[in-house]
Amino acid sequence: MIIVMKRGATAEQIQHVIERVEEFGLKAHPIYGTERTVVAAVGDKRDEHRHSLAIAPGVAEVVPILAPYKVASLEVKPERTVVRVGPLSVGNCDLGVIAGPCAVENYDQTLATARAVKAAGATGLRGGAYKPRTSPYSFQGLKEEGLRILAAAREETGLPVVTEVLAASDVPLVAKYADVLQIGARNMQNYRLLEEVGASGKPTILKRGLAATLEELLLAAEYILNADNQNVILCERGIRTFENHTRFTLPLASVPWLRERTHLPVIVDPSHGTGHASLVPAMAAAAVAAGADGLLIEVHPKPEKALSDGYQSLDFAQFAETMELCRRVAEAVGKRMAPCSQGESPSTAHSRVPVAQTAL
Ligand code: PEP
Ligand code: MN
Repeated sequence: MIIVMKRGATAEQIQHVIERVEEFGLKAHPIYGTERTVVAAVGDKRDEHRHSLAIAPGVAEVVPILAPYKVASLEVKPERTVVRVGPLSVGNCDLGVIAGPCAVENYDQTLATARAVKAAGATGLRGGAYKPRTSPYSFQGLKEEGLRILAAAREETGLPVVTEVLAASDVPLVAKYADVLQIGARNMQNYRLLEEVGASGKPTILKRGLAATLEELLLAAEYILNADNQNVILCERGIRTFENHTRFTLPLASVPWLRERTHLPVIVDPSHGTGHASLVPAMAAAAVAAGADGLLIEVHPKPEKALSDGYQSLDFAQFAETMELCRRVAEAVGKRMAPCSQGESPSTAHSRVPVAQTAL
């Protein structure tokens, strides 16, 4: 339920409501809006104490939250969440573009890609150090060495680093280097991982599971939000269907559908969503037209030599052209595709960790 405080409710009255909610064994999420404060009370048996809360001092009304997801819903927080890390801003009018290789393969490949995507206007660098591969015989990623390379790329370019964390036990190490954690499609329903990532407090990209409904995606986001981590970005990356002309089917209607129900920013990954480099530019532009708050795009200096996902990776020239196309669409739909100057700096604490300067 949502406890809507009266306009001008005092800090003591709000605190009293929070304490009452907690006494009932529910979790209180106060949301301080420009007009009013609301306290979302979530947990089991959440409507039982409705009447008692309605008569607390300073309370205007108590309303049930109809959606099964609570903290993620627009009902609870009508103001859109904007996730900002250094030049990367995702949400509201800001379109964040996160680009880079599927996997960090070596120093030169990652640095060259970071420079190229930055020059083309990307505001975040992606790269997998821990790769979730279908086959155990495929390249699994450089692990901590890959994280060090990403940190070096951040040091040079200033781009915040987005990288996947595969297991709950890896969260402290990955969070030490990354600015934004990525939860991959295969892990969307790994609830221990969601809780651990939530507790890390790091901005997080949560990718839709291959066979997950959008409601399941929002409920997965709820695990992170419930750990008091509000910096969650949802990512549509395509789902499994009977169709096989593309690697996955990329349902772009999920963008406006999600934006009607959640305040969380929604980005689209047209690389995994199509599995073909030639289809990426059009689907990236379509995602922007559909209202996406950002894009996640795979870019490689030489896609044909990539150790993973080369067939869906753009080369530098293709990426620059895609950015130009998306910029024009962004302008037409009232979005800004520029580096943000007000965000918090990407963490630099670990970017000084020595990294091999030669190709590995
Ligand atoms: C990736 O971004 O490289 C990745 C593995 O994505 P997904 O989890 O969507 O397959
Ligand atoms: Mn990939």
